[in-house]
Amino acid sequence: MLDYQRLLDRLYERLPERREPPKLDIPSLNIVHVGLQTHIKNFKEVCDVLLREPRICARYLLKELAARGSIDDSGVFIIYSRVSTQTINSLFKRFLDTYVKCQTCGSYQTELRRKGKVWIIRCLACGAETPVKPI
Ligand SMILES: [Zn+2]
Repeated sequence: MLDYQRLLDRLYERLPERREPPKLDIPSLNIVHVGLQTHIKNFKEVCDVLLREPRICARYLLKELAARGSIDDSGVFIIYSRVSTQTINSLFKRFLDTYVKCQTCGSYQTELRRKGKVWIIRCLACGAETPVKPI
């Protein structure tokens, strides 16, 4: 009986650990052009899913676009110039890769910690911490 238990224990020890990063459903950006402006309708909603402050993500996009913009009360991100959907999506993907994705396990379930000038992406799946450049 004791041996059997030991055998079982050993068997469980050998089972491969499942380390698939949990998939995060990132909604695609709802981008519309209004006159000479570009509106991202579901901006706050998407940032909430990513656990990122809309302000931070907006700052990144505006800096990369060299554009001006603001977030209105309903969470719509308004860029004060016409930017193609494709440009925004590729910039947003770059934001995800740099400021959301865990460099260790590939999970998008991470949080951004700021300690003054030091920014760290902490993975909620594997616990890895990656320093990133402040935005
Ligand atoms: Zn990770």
